[in-house]
Amino acid sequence: METKTMTQAMDMHATDYCDRYGCNTFSGDTMLRFLEPEVYESLQETMKKGKPLDPAIANSVAHAMMEWAIENGCTHYTHWFQPLTGATAEKHDGFLEPKGTGAIAEFKGDMLIRGEPDASSFPSGGIRDTWEARGYTAWDATSPAFILPNEEGGTLCIPTAFISWTGEALDKKTPLLRSIDAINEQAMRLLKFFGTDEGVTRVETTLGSEQEYFLVDEAFVAERQDLLLCGRTLIGAMPPKGHQLDDHYFGKIPERVLAFMDDAERQLYELGIPVKTRHNEVAPGQYEIAPTFENANVATDHQMLLMQVLKSTAAAHGFACLMHEKPFAGVNGSGKHNNWSVATDTGVNLLNPGSEPQTHWQFLTFLCAVIRAVDLHADLLRASIASAANDHRLGANEAPPAIISIYLGQMLSDILEQIESDEPRSAKDGGTLDLGAVTMPLVSRHSGDRNRTSPFAFTGNKFEFRAVGSTSSVAWPNTILNTIIAESLDYIATALETELAGSSSGEQKETAVRALLKDIVKTHKRVVFDGDNYSAEWHAEAERRGLPNLRTAADALPAFGSDCASDLFDRYNVLTARELHAREEVLLEQYCTIVGIETRTLLSMLSTQVLPAALRYQYELAAQVKASQDVSVNCQRTAARLNDLSSLTEAMQESIETLQAADAMEHESALSHSAYVRDSIIPAMTIAREVSDQLELMIPDDIWPLPSYTEMLFVR
Ligand code: ADP
Ligand code: MG
Repeated sequence: METKTMTQAMDMHATDYCDRYGCNTFSGDTMLRFLEPEVYESLQETMKKGKPLDPAIANSVAHAMMEWAIENGCTHYTHWFQPLTGATAEKHDGFLEPKGTGAIAEFKGDMLIRGEPDASSFPSGGIRDTWEARGYTAWDATSPAFILPNEEGGTLCIPTAFISWTGEALDKKTPLLRSIDAINEQAMRLLKFFGTDEGVTRVETTLGSEQEYFLVDEAFVAERQDLLLCGRTLIGAMPPKGHQLDDHYFGKIPERVLAFMDDAERQLYELGIPVKTRHNEVAPGQYEIAPTFENANVATDHQMLLMQVLKSTAAAHGFACLMHEKPFAGVNGSGKHNNWSVATDTGVNLLNPGSEPQTHWQFLTFLCAVIRAVDLHADLLRASIASAANDHRLGANEAPPAIISIYLGQMLSDILEQIESDEPRSAKDGGTLDLGAVTMPLVSRHSGDRNRTSPFAFTGNKFEFRAVGSTSSVAWPNTILNTIIAESLDYIATALETELAGSSSGEQKETAVRALLKDIVKTHKRVVFDGDNYSAEWHAEAERRGLPNLRTAADALPAFGSDCASDLFDRYNVLTARELHAREEVLLEQYCTIVGIETRTLLSMLSTQVLPAALRYQYELAAQVKASQDVSVNCQRTAARLNDLSSLTEAMQESIETLQAADAMEHESALSHSAYVRDSIIPAMTIAREVSDQLELMIPDDIWPLPSYTEMLFVR
């Protein structure tokens, strides 16, 4: 692999980065340059203030986008959307249009606003049949169009929502946008109540998601069917060294990895994705990248792009980027911490406690809305991050358990107690830390510690939903989060508006808010837990508190099937009952399909690689024993080894047969299939793996047919 010289790296770095930031997006200065001023203003109203799009400007915008795209070497455009597969989708059309004897470049308003991809080959959860193919993509003007460059030039990508001919959402963006509207509507009511709505036209949800991933040399991946087909190892014995020494976390980033990171970040900057932080993660070969937060819709599109750029750039550097939640059993897995808050379009973060949180009633109201929502709908929140892959990670002593609880920290927990007991005191502040060396400055300290074990932690001025899996689109968890919180905001606003109909004094308002929050704290404080979420005591305690513990995706996903869930999503116009049930169906099917693919991949590896290797060694050992006995040489221990090996090969054959039989079973519904996967297939895969891993530790290196954990995790 070619590495950059220091001067080249410096050339690319310093000034260029600022100049090239967003150069591949149709926004900011580019828009100003290509759009007439009135059109620009009108589009800004939609992008910045969420005003409905004026269809009259579509032709001008389309033409301007095309001119810009062609100037940048594009020949094609695509509506870029996020079907329920969890990936992104694109169908390219050329700008070229034959005219007379020649051709012209053309991109009209209607082509920008609406596309018509075939909807029949995407998962629809029963909303559409194969013969009902019509679907539309609709331009989301609030997320900037962008150019995805390629060797020949590039493709103009237009972020779109994807709906069926019947108008039902077939994607992840549509419900997310609807849920953002729901939050806006309910939060604005509260701002009006508190009289803080002046100049505010909209409340946005903000989102910053930290992405963890592994880099493995692509040569090893090419030799492993499991990594190629499933993105994770289905077998593989633990290496003698893992992360016991904690020497990788925040360690020096290896040169080759740094070159990859620089390359990826340059492309991300050009796409206007504000990546900020990079570092080694806990496991060997594991890294993290995190952007600065943005509004949740744009942040979600950017997150999808970020994953795409990491993968393609890794390939260019001879790496495979493994995004899977648990690529290596026994080694830390990867998550995607979802940092979430709500803010006004004037820039006020509504979850900022300020300097006197104990009397900051508006902040406390939003805080209590979150607490109430998470307690009432912990099952939906758990279901929002449920997948076959995330099951391997949750609760594995590295990621939060499947029990959803909230970490508030010392200061806020203390304030909640004050609210409950009607005894306002001052807020506990962090004070300063004296490092004890005279040359060192005094360091100010946060009011609360961090809690890495909590699935849903307050981190100063935002909540960090830490249970989200590293492969998943953040659209769905945020759709759920926004909807359940919109409902709590609605509940609170309605209660306050009813109690204080007409004008009321500040004092009356405070009394009403206090009483309501006290009630909410009393009822919902059971979901607050500041201790160690990994501990066995917490599992017992959570059970006493009546908190749900939905251990697997098969247990969690049916939460979307309840009447309570469909009422909730319907009430806030996020999803109709049909749209919601379609998602439950798709997610259950994906769970079964993924495990099905894993089962068959495992069977293939065991039958064609592991078992033959074991038999080869067994034959070698048997010959050895026989030869020794023939010449009366003591071979007691070799014979014992042969016996052990033959027990394992027998166990391996048995495992293969069990898996084959389990895989061949027919199932009536996705629900019953998922239960079978959970109860029979996954345990059988675990047993097969245990046998295989024992064989790996026994079989000579020159016979073992697969790259080892040591090679994959430590060669960089
Ligand atoms: P860590 O959790 O690893 O300590 P940071 O605290 O630096 O990381 O930030 C994590 C993420 O939280 C970043 O992506 C950051 O932009 C995001 N973030 C910060 N403030 C907000 C906010 N108000 N809303 C949403 N995300 C935010
Ligand atoms: Mg974090």
